[in-house]
Amino acid sequence: KPIQIAIDGPAGAGKSTVAKRLAKKLKYCYIDTGAMYRALTLKAIKKKHDLNSNECIKTLLSNTEITIKNIRSENHIYLDNKDVTYEIRQPEISNNVSNIAKIPEVRDYMLTLQRQMANCGKVVMEGRDIGTVVLPEADIKFFLTASLEARAHRRFLELEKKGYSVDIDSIAQEIAIRDKIDTKRQSAPLLKADDAIEIDTSNYDIDEAVEVLITEIKK
Ligand code: C5P
Repeated sequence: KPIQIAIDGPAGAGKSTVAKRLAKKLKYCYIDTGAMYRALTLKAIKKKHDLNSNECIKTLLSNTEITIKNIRSENHIYLDNKDVTYEIRQPEISNNVSNIAKIPEVRDYMLTLQRQMANCGKVVMEGRDIGTVVLPEADIKFFLTASLEARAHRRFLELEKKGYSVDIDSIAQEIAIRDKIDTKRQSAPLLKADDAIEIDTSNYDIDEAVEVLITEIKK
C-alpha cells in the first residue's frame, strides 16, 4: 500500500472532497495545502496589508504560525492558534489567494511546513504542486481535472449551501482567473507531474471518483 498519495489539479476539480474521502477510507492522514495559503491570505486581508506588495507579505510571514490538526477526519486550520477553518472559504479569500501563493518566499515557507507534515506517516496530500515539488517521490500521484463548466457548477452548489448568494458565471470567471495565475506563476506552477495519473472527474460523482482512484492504487 502506498504511503504518500499526491493529488493535484485546478480549482473545483473535486480534489478536496475526493482526497478527504480517500484518506478516510484508507485511514491515512489528509492534508489540504490550499487551506494554508488561504490562512495566510486571510491574515493579510484582516491586517489590511497591501496584497500586491511582496515585501509586506514577507514581513507578515515572519510572524505567522499556520498549523493543521485532524479533528474527526476533518482538517482544521489554525492561524496563530485560532481556528479559521470556515473563515478561509469566503469568496474574498478565493479571489485573492493566488496572488499570495505566487510569491516565492511564501511557497518556500509552505513547502517546509508541508514536508514536515507529510512525515507524520501515511498521507493523502492535496494541492497544486504536491506531485511536482512538495512530494516528488510520492508513491502514487493523481491529477484531477474537469471542465470549467463542471467545476463552476460544483463551486456554485458549495457556496449556495453555505448561504452565499452567487452567480455561476462570476464563479466560472473567478476559477478561470485563479487557474491562470496558478498555471503561469514562475515558482511551482500548477502542473501535472510526468508520472501522475490524470482523471477527468466531469462526469463522476464523489463516490465514483474515489472508486477510480482506489482502483488505480490497487493496481
Ligand atoms: O485548493 P484551494 O482552492 O483551497 O487552493 C487555494 C489556492 O492556493 C490555489 O488557487 C493556489 O493559488 C494556492 N495553492 C498553491 N499550491 C498548493 C495549494 C494551493 O499554490 N499546493
